[in-house]
Amino acid sequence: SKVRVYQLAKELGMSSKELINKLAELDITVTNHMSALEEETADILKELYEVKREDTNEKTENKKKTNKKGSKNKKTKEASKIEEKEHDQEAIMIPETIVVQEFANKIGKSVSEIITKLIGLGVFASANQNIDYDVAASIALDFGMAVQKEEEKEEDEFGIEEIPDRPEDLKERPPVITVMGHVDHGKTSLLDAIRNTNVTSREAGGITQHIGASEVEVNGKRIVFLDTPGHEAFTSMRARGASITDIAILVVAADDGVMPQTKEAISHAKAAGVPIIVALNKIDRPNANPDRVKQELSENGVLIEEWGGDTICVPVSALKGEGIDNLLEMILLVAEMQELKANPNKLASGTVIEAKLDKSRGPVATILVQNGTLKVGDSIVAGAVYGRIRAMVNDKGNNIKKAGPATAVEILGLSDVPEAGDRFNAVKEDKLARQIVEKRRAKIREESLNATAKVSLEDLFKHIQEGEVKELNIIVKADVQGSVEAVKQSLMKLSNEEVKVKVIHGGVGTITESDIMLASASNAIVIGFNVRPSSTVSSLAKREDVDLRTYRIIYEAIADVEAAMKGMLEPEY
Ligand code: GDP
Repeated sequence: SKVRVYQLAKELGMSSKELINKLAELDITVTNHMSALEEETADILKELYEVKREDTNEKTENKKKTNKKGSKNKKTKEASKIEEKEHDQEAIMIPETIVVQEFANKIGKSVSEIITKLIGLGVFASANQNIDYDVAASIALDFGMAVQKEEEKEEDEFGIEEIPDRPEDLKERPPVITVMGHVDHGKTSLLDAIRNTNVTSREAGGITQHIGASEVEVNGKRIVFLDTPGHEAFTSMRARGASITDIAILVVAADDGVMPQTKEAISHAKAAGVPIIVALNKIDRPNANPDRVKQELSENGVLIEEWGGDTICVPVSALKGEGIDNLLEMILLVAEMQELKANPNKLASGTVIEAKLDKSRGPVATILVQNGTLKVGDSIVAGAVYGRIRAMVNDKGNNIKKAGPATAVEILGLSDVPEAGDRFNAVKEDKLARQIVEKRRAKIREESLNATAKVSLEDLFKHIQEGEVKELNIIVKADVQGSVEAVKQSLMKLSNEEVKVKVIHGGVGTITESDIMLASASNAIVIGFNVRPSSTVSSLAKREDVDLRTYRIIYEAIADVEAAMKGMLEPEY
């Protein structure tokens, strides 16, 4: 008969991890806390570590009973060396405390059966009352079931619990919005107008604090806006692995139409799979021409409802505050269709939006809580930085004690300044936070030694062969629109069964930092015709490990991509 590692650990008054280390010292390898040990081994360990028998008498007896009923004396393996990789029985997860009724359902027994057992243990509880883990576990063991304490969850490589949310724990959460568009089309004005229509902030005195994000309330529902407009901010977050935007507002000036950065914004939002709502701005201008803008949008792959598409377009004037309410309502509508959900009842996780070193307050970061609830006093890990939340301030400048899903808060109490785009997690204790940060730092060091695996023409064939690349994303920039179109068409035709060639963005003009970040975020290569990147852009491409190639002749670019797909590309020297 066998004893689970975590059970023995508990009896020995140590953590499973400590026990596993101790076992390793004794040359006994076990995989995890659920691994089974021969009873003899357990006894030897107990003797070694002098357990206070009095405490555990009862449990041991319970276990003996179970053992008799269970696997009939498989006294086979040697006591000193046990290795069991698979769990022979799926363990029942039992939390710290559980309602009798729920426990009965969980183990598939009737409430009266449970209550009888409880009485046998001298515990008197009704169907709606809570019982402790120890009591529940001993009853389950008595029924011959394996049990596991609910807090002993799977951990990710950094030791952070990644507990998948159960559907019933998920609650609706507000949407997080980024505003994008061409320069001077009114992104900043629109954000200001939105903040001004917000009744709650006006009532609160209207003094907003710049923390990197702001919130408005419409019909009793919250909407969160990221304060830094533009697709550059959006994509640099994404390049760091953070996806925080649910909806992109594309601001297009009705008197100017679709411009180069409008096109970029469209490509960036599409590459991220984020739905777009068009805010047709400056409709107060006498030369506003909404129809022309709608036409241009359709030519660029954004088909608005009027045109038979599914993109909502709202005419607004950020300057006069017109149409803003309508825009906000449309945001809620699109958000509703997305069914955005999160679990407020667990430790918080999310993304760092901004961070800086404040002379008087120390490291300050604005984070977006994306799941769970963050509380003052929580230990957290943000990227390679740890800390304990000393205070939280919201966008209205108020000190708050807790922040639920889709809330941006400025936090104090970090040991150092994290980076924008870093992921953060609240963890159970300070000690754990420190350990995780150690592991992360080691991992980051290791990663900087091993080159990151971004796609390049050189190793494209290998990746295709290994089935790692199904789509080759390309960004095309050229001096004239004609070349962009010609290259797009020819490249797309190279698609075969193994790999689809996709031009995720094409545009006229030189290669920009924003192109590189889009390539980095979308694992794309960048091809330029008769355009030369600046040295800043070239070095950014190097840093981001983005394959950037420039050509003078279209044919050569097509030939290179084709050769790369077949594994016949001549290496570059
Ligand atoms: P951004 O570069 O996209 O952030 O654009 P801004 O918000 O800075 O706006 C650029 C200019 O357009 C400013 O002079 C604004 O006053 C003006 N502007 C913005 N929205 C409107 C609008 O709805 N109507 C008019 N007439 N002007 C606007």
